[in-house]
Amino acid sequence: MSESSQQAFDPDALRERYRIEREKRLRADGNQQYIEMKDEFGHYLDDPYITDRIDREPVTDEVDVVLIGGGFGGLQAGARLREAGVKDICIIEKGGNFGGTWYWNRYPGAQCDIESYCYLPLLEELKYVPQEKYSYAREILAHSEAIGKHYNLYDKALFQTEVKELRWDEDLKRWIVKTSQGDAIKARFVSMANGPLHRPKLPGVPGIKEYKGHTFHTSRWDYDYTGGGPDGGLTKLADKRVAIIGTGATAIQCVPFLGETAKQLYVIQRTPSTVDVRGNSPTDPEWAETLEPGWQKQRMENFNALISGIPQEQDLVDDGWTDLIGKMIHQFRKAKEGENLSVADMMELANFEKMEEIRARVDELVEDPEVAEKLKPYYQMFCKRPTFNDGYLPTFNRPNVELVDTNGQGVERITEKGVVVAGVEYEVDCIIFSTGFEVGTSYSRRAGYDVYGRDRTALSDHWRDGTRTLHGMGSHGFPNLFIMNTSQGGFTANFPHLLDESAIHQAHIISHALADHHTTVEVTKEAEDAWVETILGFSGGPMGGLGGPSCTPGYYNNEGQPNPNATQSAPYGGGSIRFFKLLKEWRDAGEFDGLTFN
Ligand code: NDP
Repeated sequence: MSESSQQAFDPDALRERYRIEREKRLRADGNQQYIEMKDEFGHYLDDPYITDRIDREPVTDEVDVVLIGGGFGGLQAGARLREAGVKDICIIEKGGNFGGTWYWNRYPGAQCDIESYCYLPLLEELKYVPQEKYSYAREILAHSEAIGKHYNLYDKALFQTEVKELRWDEDLKRWIVKTSQGDAIKARFVSMANGPLHRPKLPGVPGIKEYKGHTFHTSRWDYDYTGGGPDGGLTKLADKRVAIIGTGATAIQCVPFLGETAKQLYVIQRTPSTVDVRGNSPTDPEWAETLEPGWQKQRMENFNALISGIPQEQDLVDDGWTDLIGKMIHQFRKAKEGENLSVADMMELANFEKMEEIRARVDELVEDPEVAEKLKPYYQMFCKRPTFNDGYLPTFNRPNVELVDTNGQGVERITEKGVVVAGVEYEVDCIIFSTGFEVGTSYSRRAGYDVYGRDRTALSDHWRDGTRTLHGMGSHGFPNLFIMNTSQGGFTANFPHLLDESAIHQAHIISHALADHHTTVEVTKEAEDAWVETILGFSGGPMGGLGGPSCTPGYYNNEGQPNPNATQSAPYGGGSIRFFKLLKEWRDAGEFDGLTFN
């Protein structure tokens, strides 16, 4: 590419630095480095938020639709099914209430990163406008419960109940849903909305079992130990030395609250996150009054277009997500002025420019230049989930907060007393694992159950060499089964947008089958094969082109390891806008192409 650009950075030097930082972090054990939360680690999954354990008789009733998961996916599917006239719906949820990720993740500072007016589902339907541009977890959880009430989804919901097996009974033409409460529910249709980041994981650090202090994972925050609540005030930490392991999107949000109250806080970093401007603000009631019917869909589509690189007349959201696109358009204009850059070169330059800005922000906000240097991320934007926070970086100016940078190597070992990094032991009273969720493990392991179809084949076997579906939502041999997922479906950073499009599509098919008294609906082998070919025809890589192989390791790119199934299990490579259009055209055609009804 032309190096004559007048930018204030050296692209070659940055490319080399990114390469070095990536290689430093590559490890042969990839996904195997993490510990599954089972057996002696199983207690990390206990639900700290329920006060009364449910003790009930097993349910063996028949229902029209079982929805697995009471997070946004299950709630949106339930809502769209209700709107399509489906009455008999049972949501099965392992937590004590609706909310999914927002039920579990109540750590201090938990907040949506996508603008709340786009992110919170069904706002117009519930006649609700969020209180702030970026809602905190408490409001999102309350909104989840409000959706449940509005659509009468509490009616048959089974909480504190985990699905253990899903088996098709060919004689009955029903799914038999077995659960942790001994239920054996007969369901005509099942939709699986398990959520993509649903199973927390621990780092496989030597000595992890030896630690004698207190520990918990951020997705099961122990407020009995820390005091306070999601708004902060963790007063019980005033005499505690705390280590938090991990600096992903979760840690970025809770570290400011830990720093505020802990006697001593060690933030253990393997790879720094990009931390962009949050710029939260309360909702202007006058603006809310002006919103016309259809406003939420319009806003979601505007946002999705901008983050998909499609210029819009107006940027309705105008935040860190859409800003990167602004930078690309700027590069594009520059290119048109005679530099003859290819699209790939332009995108790389825009990315360098944005990352330079992210790194400059660290210098602005962190007083100690040595600490600031360690907090700077050296990789392409979107190699890792971008984060947005105004409190995280200044936390490192506090005298009680220390950044423990592991130079990309991670924690060396855990002892009885604390955490060892580069030979130095940090003695602590509590270790908080902010180490994320399983992504690269098998679908059945993450879901916690397997699915056995018409020929008793397990879905995990059917998908052994990669996902096989039509539109990411149904597989041949698994009648009346629907999936809400990104694999072979659409991908957008605004995940509830994808869930809504899937919910509308599934409700369309299920309500048609029920209304016309079809016993089964199944994806044909030909349609499944053709969709697999369509997916393979794109080479977007995992997560729709995010986190490519040259990225620093993380869950976006299978921890930097080759994954033979990645292309086949990737989202639809044509982008979410084309995918949503394709689904709508399919529905509008009215032919249910690729499905057989009986
Ligand atoms: P992540 O997987 O993003 O982060 C895990 C962290 O643990 C990383 O910093 C990782 O380092 C670190 N780590 C893992 N093993 C070790 C080790 N052995 N030693 C030291 N550090 C280690 O998990 P999060 O919970 O932060 O976020 C998960 C996802 O949840 C996000 O990507 C996002 O999609 C979602 N999320 C969304 C939010 C929102 O919308 N508001 C808020 C929070 C999360 P390394 O990077 O080197 O692997």
